[in-house]
Amino acid sequence: MNRPSPPGPQKTRSPTARKRSQADADRHDATADPRLRYRISRWRAEFLDRDIEQRYRRHVERSVARYAGRVFKVWAVMWLLFALTDYYQFGLSATLYAIWAVRLLLFFILLGCAALVARRPALATSGVVMTPVTLLTMTAYFGLYFVSPDEHIRWLAAISMVVIVELFVLLPNRVVCSIGVVSYTVLGTMVCVALNISETTPMRLVILAELLTVPAATGWVAAVRFETTRRREFVALEHARKEIEYRKALESRLRVQARTDPLTGASNRRAYAGAAEREIRTARLAGHALSFVMLDLDHFKQVNDTYGHAAGDAALVITADRCRQVLREGDVFGRLGGEEFLFILPNTDIDEAERIAQTLRRGIAERDFISDGQHFSITATLAVTTLRAGDEDLDAVLRRADAMLYEGKDAGRDRVQVA
Ligand code: GH3
Ligand code: MG
Ligand code: MG
Repeated sequence: MNRPSPPGPQKTRSPTARKRSQADADRHDATADPRLRYRISRWRAEFLDRDIEQRYRRHVERSVARYAGRVFKVWAVMWLLFALTDYYQFGLSATLYAIWAVRLLLFFILLGCAALVARRPALATSGVVMTPVTLLTMTAYFGLYFVSPDEHIRWLAAISMVVIVELFVLLPNRVVCSIGVVSYTVLGTMVCVALNISETTPMRLVILAELLTVPAATGWVAAVRFETTRRREFVALEHARKEIEYRKALESRLRVQARTDPLTGASNRRAYAGAAEREIRTARLAGHALSFVMLDLDHFKQVNDTYGHAAGDAALVITADRCRQVLREGDVFGRLGGEEFLFILPNTDIDEAERIAQTLRRGIAERDFISDGQHFSITATLAVTTLRAGDEDLDAVLRRADAMLYEGKDAGRDRVQVA
């Protein structure tokens, strides 16, 4: 049995695995070690295995898309609300109209993004919508540095710090994409400050860089923790799902095993006796014919004595396969024990049952058996009977069939006895 091994926790990784470089891990054969397979990158918080990462994204894409849609809408409204601040700062001027035009354009772009991720949720987890639209918004935001007076620019820089945390924490984007957007924001803010605040000195720029690093680092750590936790939950879910699948498969295998003869695959006593009970009840209620065929291989002891027990086993398997070929839907094929088999044939009268028994007899007699290069054939004696009013249960039928089998053996074997 190939039991799926559970994905191991991160901290049990071996020291060599820990030392393995990112590139090595990416190239690592995904099937080799389940603990390595489920590894999550420490800096971008994604599964190193691309297939698992894709599975994870498909798993979360609906909820991420819903959240992204909400974020785009709130963002669009907020973006528009700041039109009031613009009016306060710039009054009715050409600058105000230009800013309002940009605000309106971005408002519609953001609403368009909300509609897009609702239609194609996969776009929400890949970063292809969120990343360009955040870059675009930040670029528009940088424009304000060029039209605002000095004292307002300090405010803009302060807002940049808040935005940097939000880029990591509030916006549903891949960490690696957020790193790109935040880097752009940090550099852009520094460039805009350098170009627009007259008394900027290199020292002040270094301090600004330090100040901007704090929200960037905080946001990144929070985003990595969040994304890693969600992926670990997904691993636990996959593990639980595999465990359930494994248990279900095991259960159905055990159920089959409990009802099957291990050598021939025919129904065992428990299974055929239960089936016979049901068929007898149904046949009596519906008034249908129910026939039985008992089959016993001839001189099978000799087969064992001459060719060995293993060859005897192989012959039993082949015989059972041959028997199964004549089975119809609803027929039951059981192993009574040793080299004796039973067929329960619902809705079958005695003539039809005899025809089936003859087909079986011929099929076995014509079959060529080989053991160690020696060819031999096997014959079978069969007894056919049908359910009678006086038959109390299966045993009554089997007793009659058994007696007929003896008659068949006495009469020279390789024949069908009908009663
Ligand atoms: P007859 O024609 O009278 O039926 O002769 P027979 O030798 O087939 O009858 P008997 O019942 O005396 O012998 C049945 C033999 O089947 C005995 C045993 O060695 C063999 N046998 C029973 N179960 C198995 C099995 O699972 N594997 C093998 N290889 N042989 C088995
Ligand atoms: Mg026998
Ligand atoms: Mg026999």
